[in-house]
Amino acid sequence: MKHVRQTIEQHRAGQDVTLIAVTKSVGPDVATALYEEGVRHFGENRPEGLLAKAEVLPDDALIHFIGSLQTRKVRQIIDRVAAIHSLDRLSLAAEIDKRANRVIDCFVQVNVSGEASKHGIEKEEVHAFIENCKQYPHIRVIGLMTMAPLTEDESVLRDTFHQLRTLRDDVLAKGYAHAPCTELSMGMSNDYPIAVEEGASFVRIGTILVQ
Ligand SMILES: *Cc1c(COP(=O)(O)O)cnc(C)c1O
Repeated sequence: MKHVRQTIEQHRAGQDVTLIAVTKSVGPDVATALYEEGVRHFGENRPEGLLAKAEVLPDDALIHFIGSLQTRKVRQIIDRVAAIHSLDRLSLAAEIDKRANRVIDCFVQVNVSGEASKHGIEKEEVHAFIENCKQYPHIRVIGLMTMAPLTEDESVLRDTFHQLRTLRDDVLAKGYAHAPCTELSMGMSNDYPIAVEEGASFVRIGTILVQ
């Protein structure tokens, strides 16, 4: 934990960086231990996991949903989720809008690398998608999220993060009220120092924190 925080501090370029501890592969006991070490942001990729952690963590723990979200499961998490990082289709936006009793902070997930196996909106469609989100009053697009390809090639990782940042800057410049888009959710255990250098404001870190 200390090492991860130090690394973030060393690599950030002045921006605030929020550490999300991804607890999807561990039980509520580990999440509680992390809370006691000062972690307040948690990441889960399944509704069951999110609810299990929500049951034990104090109310000031913010639990982010980071996995692909089935439309029919929105209802289960909507009251306890701090932000949804995987908004990738309008049908999901419509369901979130329908089930929410407050404005929900969302990240639009972008498939920057274009790999067929990856979730997320194609780069070219991001602007139109975000414009379309305006029709849903309970959706606030606070940023963009991506998962980089599984590679150790630093230039590929850097290029992926840089492209997401450029896209974010373009959306930010539009000044949409429903999509302030100030944030960048990028960086995992094996690539977060590069993501932070490229402007990440949220990193989602599991493996190196919980093992
Ligand atoms: C599991 C997961 C992470 C964390 O990955 P690690 O490599 O364990 O740090 C981050 N983001 C998403 C979307 C994930 O599913």
